[in-house]
Amino acid sequence: QIAGEEEVTIFDKIVAKEIPADVIYEDDLALAFRDINATAKVHFLVIPKDRQGLTGISKSEEKHKELLGHLMITAAKVAEQENLSDGYRIVINEGKFGCQSVYHLHIHVIGGEQLGWPPT
Ligand code: 5GP
Repeated sequence: QIAGEEEVTIFDKIVAKEIPADVIYEDDLALAFRDINATAKVHFLVIPKDRQGLTGISKSEEKHKELLGHLMITAAKVAEQENLSDGYRIVINEGKFGCQSVYHLHIHVIGGEQLGWPPT
């Protein structure tokens, strides 16, 4: 279901350390942790700690420019940390047709093996 802007998501609980996660990177703005249901050898998520209304990418506005840029740079930096120099995929699922399940913006980084394209 689609969460409201103020709704607490499972990712807020991960940020607050109320539920455990395999955190691989953290700074003031962003957190990266391994996806609990990995779809490839390496699969992690990069999220804003404070989502600033970003339940999904469709909510992005000019005011989010710096945060969004930081998340992308973080995704690339953590990919390097995870030794994904042979390549990887970045995915943002949006809404029902995009199969979004958690309404707290997150970037999927998927790799560690040869991926197929197009996705099914
Ligand atoms: P979405 O489908 O919204 O783009 O992706 C949500 C992702 O979050 C899914 O890949 C799912 O496996 C992952 N996920 C959901 N709940 C948890 C959790 O509690 N911990 C972790 N590490 N990942 C989760």
